[in-house]
Amino acid sequence: MQFNIQIPCPVCQTQIPADSNLLLTGIQFSCPSCSAAIGLSAKSAPLVEHAINEFDELRKEVSAMKSATQED
Ligand SMILES: [Zn+2]
Repeated sequence: MQFNIQIPCPVCQTQIPADSNLLLTGIQFSCPSCSAAIGLSAKSAPLVEHAINEFDELRKEVSAMKSATQED
């Protein structure tokens, strides 16, 4: 599962596009605006993974609702 998400730069608030899978590996991104290094600490990786899983469940529910209404 992969999401393209945006992380706000803690220094200049630029939205930095990032890949959720890469983030979970602990890779670091550089801000294109101020070159600050942004990465996910090993400590917060499970939190992000949990949030992504919940988001995916929500997405499945929404698409299930959509297909239910389209059957009419
Ligand atoms: Zn920045």
